[in-house]
Amino acid sequence: MRLIIMGPPGAGKGTQATALAARINGAHISTGDIFRANVAEETELGTLAKQYMDAGEYVPDEVTNAMVKDRLSQPDALTAFLLDGYPRTLDQVHTLDAMLADLGSQLDGVVALTVDSEELIARLLKRAQTSGRTDDTEDVIRHRQEVYVSETAPLLDVYRERGILFEVDGMGSIEDIEARVAAALPA
Ligand code: ADP
Repeated sequence: MRLIIMGPPGAGKGTQATALAARINGAHISTGDIFRANVAEETELGTLAKQYMDAGEYVPDEVTNAMVKDRLSQPDALTAFLLDGYPRTLDQVHTLDAMLADLGSQLDGVVALTVDSEELIARLLKRAQTSGRTDDTEDVIRHRQEVYVSETAPLLDVYRERGILFEVDGMGSIEDIEARVAAALPA
């Protein structure tokens, strides 16, 4: 199965993504994790990405698209994958469409976690106390929500129109949400 998981910052996307990737026995491709690994290793890509991440901005599409293209073409991602944090812009949606067409494959579904915005900010501020992530300060957290609403939320309509959007209530315990995600998946 080839899936995308989406949700605003703080929706619990990363937590659910790990479980979901295991469930579908697919490669878990998290653009945020790949960027953070590059930052930690001080690669050229990491140095570039860090400036955007620290400001709560998206890394430019051409950089992100090239990175995902490379990752998606690796053998472990051929039959099953979960994209976590990608696509985040309409440009990325179109690039992903082209990549999958080249690979002769297509998406089976898009899981979208929904959480109300006050809860999101509260969760992120709590995480900020322990995560050590330099993009977890209050101003940056609020900015990332705005960027999500303007850049990424419109993608939900695109996938809804394609009939492959599965919206899942992201409020509640990790286990409850996991069960809802599993129930929402296409057969
Ligand atoms: P969160 O889920 O907390 O919003 P991620 O860990 O998915 O964050 O991503 C962290 C940061 O990495 C983003 O704020 C952004 O700067 C960058 N990033 C991740 N994925 C993308 C993407 N698809 N396009 C552009 N930038 C991205």
